[in-house]
Parts: sequence; C-alpha cells; structure tokens
Amino acid sequence: MTNSRSPIIGITCSVFQSAGRPRLGQNQTYLDAVVRAGAAPLLIPHLVDGALLRAVYHRLDGLLLSGGEDVHPAHYGEACHEKCGTITPDRDEMELPLTRWAIEDGKPLLAICRGIQVLNVALGGSLYQDIQAQAPGAGRHDWYPDLPRDLLSHTVSIAPQTCLARLEDTVSLPVNSLHHQAVKDVAPGLIVAARAPDEIIEAVEAVGHPFAIGVQWHPEELASSDARAQRLFDALVAACLAAETKR
Ligand code: MN
Repeated sequence: MTNSRSPIIGITCSVFQSAGRPRLGQNQTYLDAVVRAGAAPLLIPHLVDGALLRAVYHRLDGLLLSGGEDVHPAHYGEACHEKCGTITPDRDEMELPLTRWAIEDGKPLLAICRGIQVLNVALGGSLYQDIQAQAPGAGRHDWYPDLPRDLLSHTVSIAPQTCLARLEDTVSLPVNSLHHQAVKDVAPGLIVAARAPDEIIEAVEAVGHPFAIGVQWHPEELASSDARAQRLFDALVAACLAAETKR
C-alpha cells in the first residue's frame, strides 16, 4: 500500500537536553508502527506560532499524539502538585490546538499515553497529576524506568460497543503501563472506552468522530510482535484512507 497516496501521519515530538542544547525527537517505535500500517510518519516540531502550526496541520491526513512529559496543570485549572513531573510548555502550546482542530475537523487521531491526557485536557477534562498521590487505592501504573517497555503489567477492561472493542475484538486486553498520571474528569465529548482493574481510565474515544481514540498504554512498544497493538495504527491509517475517499 506504500505509494504516492500513502497518508501522512503527523507524530508529535518530545524535547530533551542533549550535549547542552534542546533537541527534538521521538522513539522510533512510533514511526515503525505507522510505517507498518502503510503510512508516512512526519515528526511535528514545537511550533507555537499558530499560523505555522496550522500550515503543518493542513498537510496531515492523521495525527498521532505521542508519549512524553506532563501537561502543565494550569491547562486544567490547577497549580502544580509536588509530584507533577517535567513540564514542556512549548509542547503543550503545540499539541493542545492541534488536538482541538483534529476533533473539530474529524481528522483521524490516535493519542498515546501523554496523548490521551492531552486529548482529555484539550477538550476540557482534568488529570491525576500523580496516581499514587491522588488516587488512593490505585495499583501501580509506573512500570519504568528500568523495566522492559513491552512488559504487560495489567489488563484493561474494554467497554462493549466502543470503537476500541470492535477494533480489538475483545473486552479484556493485557497492556504495558508506563505512566504516573491519568485521566481524572473526562472531558465533554469523550467516553471512557477502557479501565484498569483499579478503575483508572485507560482509554477514551470521541463521540461522533470518525476515529479519535486515546489509550493510556504504549501500543507502539508492542506492535512489532502483537497484532492487536498494531491494529490501532492500522485503524488510524484506514480512517485516513476512508476520509480521502469521501473527499
Ligand atoms: Mn496503566
């Protein structure tokens, strides 16, 4: 399917300090999963100029909000808790509008880990700034840093009759878990599509949108050997192709 009509999937970047200067990048696993799905991945830099960001957005067929640092709690009306992690303000400024545009326009969107949190905050929801500190009784979700990123550490229960349940063709899925924050109050327009055994929200989807799913786990770390994980990327690309056919 790799041809001139291959959809372009924009993947948001992380910023990190390396050799004393800020650099942008993202794990290769995201790009590999998109390529396996037959699309062209394109890394999106931290453009805070709305017009330039819009120019990039217009050229994308689909959007992949990737994992990374914590969203500034000011975006959901809170001060920073002491357990809130690293904040990347320019990344927030880039991802929040991109997300709102994709939701408004019906542009296919897959949101992973930080991505599900960005999706929820962009639409008016809130987050647990730290699960351990703010969700008493919750199990462990921060299975990092010195553990395999494909470690299946808990299951999720998928709500029947969701897009996710149809896609995965199951209501119980073992997943990896590399997060310390989670969706708290679900934004208007989103529904909960999966929960961990401790009730922590693990997936959401946008009502009435062709394809907008957020997952709290990291399917890109599983997708090379796990067909169910790869299906999320395949479905994202299929939604892009379906949108092109309709135009
Ligand atoms: Mn988890």
